[in-house]
Amino acid sequence: MAFRGVLTGGCLCGAIRYEIRVDGDEVVDYCHCRQCQAASGAPVLPWIQVPPSAFRVTAGVARGFASSASATRWFCTECGGQIYMTDINDRSVGITLGTLDDANLVRPTVHGWTASRLAWFDTADDLPRYPEYPPYDL
Ligand SMILES: [Zn+2]
Ligand SMILES: [Zn+2]
Repeated sequence: MAFRGVLTGGCLCGAIRYEIRVDGDEVVDYCHCRQCQAASGAPVLPWIQVPPSAFRVTAGVARGFASSASATRWFCTECGGQIYMTDINDRSVGITLGTLDDANLVRPTVHGWTASRLAWFDTADDLPRYPEYPPYDL
């Protein structure tokens, strides 16, 4: 069963803290896109997608970087941790799973941007795979 309730998390140094209200039906995407690779330094970056009203920063102020015409990535200026991403149309906020206090409470549901997946990296699962955008705003 998927977790329902309030998830908490924050950046590495703890300056920025947040809460997410989830009902268990969220899209949780492994993002294989080039921007996530460059921003994180990792082969893939997993995100949980929620409506903007379900996400709240409870401590600190993140700094935004417009990584594309439609997306802004928010990070901690102290430790550099990348915490969340907003889109210009306010469809959804993505929060990085690695910043959750307990990332075992949610599980990925899809793979996005597999067109950019690194040849030497893959996961063993049967989740749906999208060559470009996964459905962030189901
Ligand atoms: Zn920090
Ligand atoms: Zn990405």
